[in-house]
Amino acid sequence: MDPKQLEKYSRQILFAGIGEEGQERLLRSSVVLVGCGALGTVTANLLVRSGVGRLRIIDRDFVESSNLQRQTLFDESDARDALPKAVAAERHLRAVNSDAAIEPLVADLNSQNAVELLSGFPLILDGTDNFETRFLINDAAVCLGVPWIYAAAVGSYGVTLTILPGKTACLACLLESSGKSNGFGVEETCDTVGVLNSAAGIVASIEAAEATKILAGKTDQLDTRLTSCDVWVGRFHSIRVERNPNCRACSRRELLYLEGDAQPHVTMCGRDSVQIHERRRNLDLSELARRLGRAAEDLRQNAFLLHFRIQPYEMTVFPDGRAVVKGTRDPAVARSLYSRYIGA
Ligand SMILES: [Zn+2]
Repeated sequence: MDPKQLEKYSRQILFAGIGEEGQERLLRSSVVLVGCGALGTVTANLLVRSGVGRLRIIDRDFVESSNLQRQTLFDESDARDALPKAVAAERHLRAVNSDAAIEPLVADLNSQNAVELLSGFPLILDGTDNFETRFLINDAAVCLGVPWIYAAAVGSYGVTLTILPGKTACLACLLESSGKSNGFGVEETCDTVGVLNSAAGIVASIEAAEATKILAGKTDQLDTRLTSCDVWVGRFHSIRVERNPNCRACSRRELLYLEGDAQPHVTMCGRDSVQIHERRRNLDLSELARRLGRAAEDLRQNAFLLHFRIQPYEMTVFPDGRAVVKGTRDPAVARSLYSRYIGA
């Protein structure tokens, strides 16, 4: 480290758990973050400030005004410009620490691209908001043999677990063996019951602390218990999770989510939106905007997306052919709108 770096990271070097050697490792480290929302913005911010060398951010959404309450890397101009979250995050993070190499990827992690986008990194971080993607990350982490950190927050509640495939319980050990689909119940999402920024912030901070241990080479210090907290009632829990010797993922290596058997082409996304997954198309958004003409209202376009209204629906289309249809829960309606306005 040069004298400027010694000064810049001095408070972390002074901390006995990291020291100069741990800081040097952090500066050479790399990590991939999937999802840059309430959890991802906090972990990315903390890790880039701590000196992580390279951060890849994968996110499929764009910034909306309802995100600003908890997604601490974004501001009003990002929402006004409907910037993709990965791109907006990169801009803010570069201003925070220009030493870090930030790689924004505006993409939907799916069974076809997961191994390619996640490989080459010694750690994967969960910043997602859905269990379909988390199980995909879990299967990819098992396949690649790299650690990942599960984290989730809804309402005033948050939960996190550090997963070392083959050594500690994986997400399938935790959730599939108990017969539950996830830890929260079926209908509870941030779109139905809301979320406190403090709940997301605390869980993301624990996730960042665990990530720092891994990236600084202090894996003996990891806490591999399932940690949960409720910031409203003031309750903290930490429990040991045993591996399931017959686990579908980390024992039998039936990586269903990675093989694509468990991922539909159409998924629910939020309370009243349907996502039509990427079709590996190469759409010319300007041409599409021209074609839509007066059929669409409130057309907004930038290099990354085209957003418009067909009353009572809203559609956001990305250059790879992926689309989010807001205003319906019915996949058939979404498919029909897609074929009518974008083309099959
Ligand atoms: Zn397992």
